[in-house]
Amino acid sequence: MSGRAIRRCLVALSAWAAASSLTAAPGPNASRTQILFLGTAGGPPLRFDRSEPSTLLIVNGREYLIDCGIGTTRRLVEAGIDSSQIRTIFFTHLHADHDMGLADVMANDFFEGGGAGTAGPFDIYGPPQTKQLVDAGFQFISVGFRPFAAAPPTAYRIRGGSFVSPFVAHEIDHDGLVFDDGNVRVIAAENSHYVMIPAATRPQFKTYSYRVETADGVIVFSGDTGPSGSIGAIAKGADVLITEASYRDTQDLDESISARAARNHWSPVVTKRFRDHFVHEHLDTAEIGQLAATARARAVILYHYDPADEADRAAYVSGVKKNFAGPVFAPGDLDRLCLSSGVLAACGSARR
Ligand SMILES: [Zn+2]
Ligand SMILES: [Zn+2]
Repeated sequence: MSGRAIRRCLVALSAWAAASSLTAAPGPNASRTQILFLGTAGGPPLRFDRSEPSTLLIVNGREYLIDCGIGTTRRLVEAGIDSSQIRTIFFTHLHADHDMGLADVMANDFFEGGGAGTAGPFDIYGPPQTKQLVDAGFQFISVGFRPFAAAPPTAYRIRGGSFVSPFVAHEIDHDGLVFDDGNVRVIAAENSHYVMIPAATRPQFKTYSYRVETADGVIVFSGDTGPSGSIGAIAKGADVLITEASYRDTQDLDESISARAARNHWSPVVTKRFRDHFVHEHLDTAEIGQLAATARARAVILYHYDPADEADRAAYVSGVKKNFAGPVFAPGDLDRLCLSSGVLAACGSARR
């Protein structure tokens, strides 16, 4: 390693250590509220090192899955978690990077207990079209289970020639309280991620941020969102703001868009449309810092991002810290954070 590379590494490590509040972290079993990152990438392109967006919130031993991108089941297996023990799933929105892993999860759930009807329902919450997604997913997996069920005596519940689905879709079409099981309360707020969709068709395409209230504190999931709109209100006073960081800064955006435009031979109009999507419908690190500071959030966790290397990951953190004085975490897949009495700390990796 060259002297310059070593210096770059040291700078990255010191920024990472400063940013990550590496204080005495509680063990994973000590905290009643844990956040396990199953997928921290953003956008549909698949990556080697990061799975698509999916986060597991565990509160008092009860699991809630927020989004379900490609790779979710693989990460659950790596963490030693059977997806069928997760009975509640929330979708922030139905872009492909956030929901294409659902059929995998449904297949495992159905195989492990749902098919025989011994498991309770799996409740899936999300914006309009969630029922269509869930029903299509069940039809898709049904084809692969018919041969199992064709050999009598079958344990599968069949009605009118079709499997009885244990998956129940709940569409969210309003802001405010959308879920309360006595363990967590979930408040939804439509955000600005779809502002470029024409107003006439936008009601079919809602996109939400979620504020989750637990006994250990308030956790806000930004989902995908632009800098304006309701995210500021819903993040107010949050103990933890888990936020997308789709690009680091303007330079990062310009470089990645130029490369993509050249590769795909985009016209100037298409290139501008793509750039506008990031500027108006996603967040960069400076905007995240402003948002967290204005909302007086206590800690920020970045995800839905694509840092090139460790130095770049530290630059994402530094970008937020220009405007926000609190701790900023930049996890990778299977990193776990624990929340106790409103204080967030890293508590190891779930990778076995
Ligand atoms: Zn996304
Ligand atoms: Zn999106």
